[in-house]
Amino acid sequence: MSQTSFNKRLFKFLKHSPTPFHASDTIAGRLQQNGFRLLSENEQWPEKMHGGYCCIRDDGSLLAWKTSDSNSPDTPWRMTVAHTDSPALQIKPLPETRTAAYTSLGVEVYGGPLLSTWFDRDLGIAGRVSLLTEKDTLCIRLLDFKRNLVTIPSLAIHLNRKANDGLKIDKQKQLLPILCQMDKELSFHDIIRRQLQKQYPDLAVKKILGFDLFCYDTQPPAFVGLNKEFITGSRLDNLVSCFVGMEALVQKNISGNCLLLCSNHEEIGSASVAGAHGNFLRSALQRIQPKLFREGPSLGASLLISMDNAHALHPNHAEKHDPGHTPLLNHGPVIKHNANQRYATTCRSTALYKIIAEEAGIFPQEFVMRSDMPCGSTIGPIGATDLGIQTIDVGVPSLAMHSIRETTGTKDPFLLFKTIARFYRRNSLPLVIQ
Ligand SMILES: [Zn+2]
Repeated sequence: MSQTSFNKRLFKFLKHSPTPFHASDTIAGRLQQNGFRLLSENEQWPEKMHGGYCCIRDDGSLLAWKTSDSNSPDTPWRMTVAHTDSPALQIKPLPETRTAAYTSLGVEVYGGPLLSTWFDRDLGIAGRVSLLTEKDTLCIRLLDFKRNLVTIPSLAIHLNRKANDGLKIDKQKQLLPILCQMDKELSFHDIIRRQLQKQYPDLAVKKILGFDLFCYDTQPPAFVGLNKEFITGSRLDNLVSCFVGMEALVQKNISGNCLLLCSNHEEIGSASVAGAHGNFLRSALQRIQPKLFREGPSLGASLLISMDNAHALHPNHAEKHDPGHTPLLNHGPVIKHNANQRYATTCRSTALYKIIAEEAGIFPQEFVMRSDMPCGSTIGPIGATDLGIQTIDVGVPSLAMHSIRETTGTKDPFLLFKTIARFYRRNSLPLVIQ
């Protein structure tokens, strides 16, 4: 696959994945097209597993794996993890808010977005809805209005002369997206119901019971720069990594035990039914290899690559980086280090990763936070802690992380893909260092 066709597919994936639920659904679709079987946690799983499988929990987290024919607890695992969620504005359960002749929607802040970037954007609404049908069946349906539906206008500078001196945003009062201008009362549930009818003409909805709906930027991803050297788009953190993992796993020529976890709720701490602090991965592994945690030496000989975007040096804020660790866009994936294990990278996992990357012709960049600034974290340390598996934190270099529109290098997603593709293919790699 060339970088051009890879990026074309990446853009399509980003467009089809406005929420974690859509991302999981899109990934499951791609996996199934490539022979993976979708399993439900509520059914018996095959006793002998050969080939590819995937499973979705709570609509927003997806686990996919390929097992070797022997599938013995001695076979090492090559695992990657990423997250499906991104900071956003989530619609409140009873959101209708009327001021003068405007109807706005109450929102909660999900995760840690750069809030100022959400103003003056054309926003869509998407997510999932739980409902009761006329036949009294309970079901969940994905919803996406796929159009510009709301906007949060800034206050004109003439009405706030201090707006450029550091804007403080009142999350309760100033973040409400405006939906429409009309005199009569309107029900958000009715709007959802109409959209469901449009998307699912055969679905007879008796009652809407709940929803997780988010505002999202409708502007598609784009190439920017004199030589188109940058990619800008929404939710690059961390859908780029989900896409990389998915594309690497559907390669034809991989064998051994390979796994990809795309987890929801990373941006809010991972403690949830579907989050990485939950038991999704562990309980699935127990079902895939019942002896794994009792007598399998395989986890000790395995490697987990945690993929999440890294901070590239920002030319306007170079002082924010440690001078010796300044990742650049288009120079490929970054290994993230932290002495306090906020990143799970160790000396051992670094060695293993570097061997794999260099076999793919890629020389990793290295990142460590300035010593006088706190460090973020990822799913990496959670996986390392729970499974006792060597783990490394890596990611594509990016700018404006948690903005509604982030930036990465045009080459970087493909370079990460080449590394992960090599990792999944390289089943004879010694994953233990003597
Ligand atoms: Zn992230």
